[in-house]
Amino acid sequence: MRTEFRSQKCRIDTVEVVPEEQLQRVVFLDRDGVINKKLEGDYVKTYDEFIFLPGTIDAIKKIKQKGLMVIIITNQSGIGRGIMSEDDLLDVHEQMLAELKKNGVTIDAIYYCPHSPDNGCDCRKPKDGLFKQALMDFNIDMEHSWMIGDEQKDVEAGEKAGCQTYLLSKGELLIEAIELLL
Ligand SMILES: [Mg+2]
Ligand SMILES: [Zn+2]
Repeated sequence: MRTEFRSQKCRIDTVEVVPEEQLQRVVFLDRDGVINKKLEGDYVKTYDEFIFLPGTIDAIKKIKQKGLMVIIITNQSGIGRGIMSEDDLLDVHEQMLAELKKNGVTIDAIYYCPHSPDNGCDCRKPKDGLFKQALMDFNIDMEHSWMIGDEQKDVEAGEKAGCQTYLLSKGELLIEAIELLL
């Protein structure tokens, strides 16, 4: 499946009702602090600054082996604050996906909020607008899906979206959470 890059649309449509057997379970992942090392007080502006956390690739592999989709839901306000461009972000994601591909794994979609907090958009977590976009694009079994993040706002957004949530404790790795949850 082609990986889709989506910026926010702030457009919420009615979700079509589909038969339950067609529904896909998803593990939604925050990016910074879950997939890659979070830069304290800074943004990942180039791929040089993007460092996979230990075990991330194996964790994604395991999620896919269990038959779940992997979708990234990430706030990237560095764009809205004028610290980086949307192209910078897309470039980082392109190289991240290339590295994953080398390791035989894929991510199904990436949704990001490019806005600064004062924009008042509907997509910046703890709001659930990015999940709503994902719901428009895929037939998702929200009740049996997970949102995994390293901050409270990730969990809040996941709860609003109606999925199960898991907050990584300080220093806890995604692979540890996945082994616990799946
Ligand atoms: Mg984070
Ligand atoms: Zn937004």
